[in-house]
Amino acid sequence: MTDHANPLLAPWKDPWALPPFAEAKAEHFAPAFDRAMKQQLAELDAIGGSAEAPTFENTIAAFDRSGRLLDRVGRLFYNLTASDTSPALQAVEREVAPLMAAHDSAVHMHRPLFARIDALHGRRGELGLSDEQLRVLERFHTDFVRCGARFGPAEQRRYTEVMRRLADLTTRFGQNVLADESAFQLTLESEADLAGLPDFVRAAARQAAADRGVAEGCVITLSRSHIVPFLTFSERRDLREKAWRAWTSRGEHAGASDNRGVAAEILELRLEQARLHGYASYADYALADTMAGAQAAVTDLLMQVWIPAKARALLERRALEELAASRGEAARIEAWDWRFYAEKVRQARYDLDEAEIKPYFPLERITEAAFDCAGRLFGISFVPRPEIKVYHPEVLVYEVRGAEGEAIGLFLHDNFARPAKRSGAWMSSYRSQSRIGAGEAPVLPIIVNNNNFARGAPGQPTLLSFDDARTLFHEFGHGLHGLLSNVTYERLAGTNVLRDFVELPSQLFEHWLDEPEVLKRHARHVVTGAPIPDAIVDKLHAARHFNQGYETVRYTASALVDMAAHARATEAPKDVVAFERAELEKIGLPSGIGLNHRLTHFQHLFSGSGYAAGYYVYLWAEVLDADGFEAFVDAGDPFDATVAARLARFIYSSGDSMEPTAAYHGFRGRAPTPMPMLRKRGLVDETAA
Ligand SMILES: [Zn+2]
Repeated sequence: MTDHANPLLAPWKDPWALPPFAEAKAEHFAPAFDRAMKQQLAELDAIGGSAEAPTFENTIAAFDRSGRLLDRVGRLFYNLTASDTSPALQAVEREVAPLMAAHDSAVHMHRPLFARIDALHGRRGELGLSDEQLRVLERFHTDFVRCGARFGPAEQRRYTEVMRRLADLTTRFGQNVLADESAFQLTLESEADLAGLPDFVRAAARQAAADRGVAEGCVITLSRSHIVPFLTFSERRDLREKAWRAWTSRGEHAGASDNRGVAAEILELRLEQARLHGYASYADYALADTMAGAQAAVTDLLMQVWIPAKARALLERRALEELAASRGEAARIEAWDWRFYAEKVRQARYDLDEAEIKPYFPLERITEAAFDCAGRLFGISFVPRPEIKVYHPEVLVYEVRGAEGEAIGLFLHDNFARPAKRSGAWMSSYRSQSRIGAGEAPVLPIIVNNNNFARGAPGQPTLLSFDDARTLFHEFGHGLHGLLSNVTYERLAGTNVLRDFVELPSQLFEHWLDEPEVLKRHARHVVTGAPIPDAIVDKLHAARHFNQGYETVRYTASALVDMAAHARATEAPKDVVAFERAELEKIGLPSGIGLNHRLTHFQHLFSGSGYAAGYYVYLWAEVLDADGFEAFVDAGDPFDATVAARLARFIYSSGDSMEPTAAYHGFRGRAPTPMPMLRKRGLVDETAA
């Protein structure tokens, strides 16, 4: 195929320069990647081979502008493989992953280019740069060094091999998890199989059956919005166990989708990667470029919550055992029992019934709530653009406008679970914001939020749980980080920040969903339109700390296992299942809790390297978000204009243009303290603090 006939390589003529979704086929990607990589290397040769002395403009700004073709092809590709994949795209993914890794090494080991960056870095104080220019120079220099720019030729060869192999393995890891998720379904045939399930769970299960071509009955899939309600409500202990075992054994079945060897080899190669850089362990290497800086800071924080959370979880378990005993049931709480009995305790203690709450959380209303909060805080608005078609008819497209009515970006909302879509929820982008695109025209961001909500039956609205609504706000917070980005250089845009800072805008945004004023305005009954009653709001707030021991223990145990697996300096664990068991024993995971992020399907750690030795970042950011929201509490108004303006300037729009500690200080006027986080989780005695 000629480049000319490839829609990925032709100019993208859409007014928003959106990808040619309708024309782009799987077979277009490999040649487009090939062409785009060559083009970027030619651009780098030109920068590196310039006869002019290196300047910020001819080297740093030029490098930031390079590779835009590869960037647009790559983002389209990786968004499709996450949200709307196919066997053909998966085959291209396996083919392209090691090539992209090798290309990345070729970029960061480009000697003439690095020589110029290094020279500029060496005299950065004398160049008369702005703060943002200095920051982008520092970031690029760090990127190059951390990708092996300073290695000798033999080390560079080996490093490139390691990175290629890692790309291959992480791609397979994610595909294996998806394969196990697609392969499993729990078919519920009789009324007895459905015992305990409220209408909304039955409706979602009927819809899943229809989606999967099952003519009769209901289907529970391993999508979180199926499995969690099933474990919460099903009276059938045997089926709960079956569902739980399927959910937590993803990637652990002998055969083509077995991730045990994949994970072990990833860990081994990461250790080698770290050693090539002169670090004792992968955790040391990964943490060197974070706010935390070193393992001790992470472990300190995790242990601050681990000890009280464990104590809390043991009390919670006792309450579950008592409730089970009162029903003449299980004496010992197993992992597939916890959510079930917890829901019963929750109903008894707080009179909270999930089926009573959900009608107040229709997807459309909660989306409006998120838009409205963003509007009141940041002056932006979301205009539906149904005429813009993207990769799937379910995806809603909005034009985002600034305070003056000017377009600032596009927002894609992809809310429903589908078999060809990765599980979980995430934000991604088709394009990052910057001010120096081709022709120096401002580049507007195109941001997507993916959720995996169970779709309502045909003609019926989709109702969210309070947790789902929180997830929507969380991802929308990431979305705002991308949409409000206001920087010059793409390297610094939006979510391209240090990874233990990246969850701050998302987790912070969740706080507005808790505000009674927001709930009263937007949480309206799907049939009557009546606002959520005060009694339910009060109950939701009263129950806020309920089951937090369980939630905190599950999260923290996963973070500790992640850290342990990546902190090994002598040799990487060979048997990840045995390693995980031993670690959980060592830290004393209370029985009955069980982890749903087991190493064989822990995509944060093994579907890429972004969260490897980094699962702690949610807790790290929670210290910041809990402390940060108190600025609004102190101001006495969750939409206080002065605080919101500082929040926009230093957090949501600054990307990585400021050092994160300084950015937080700019917003809050001081460093954060962990106490608000501990209070938020109910892990301190409020009267004593
Ligand atoms: Zn997040």
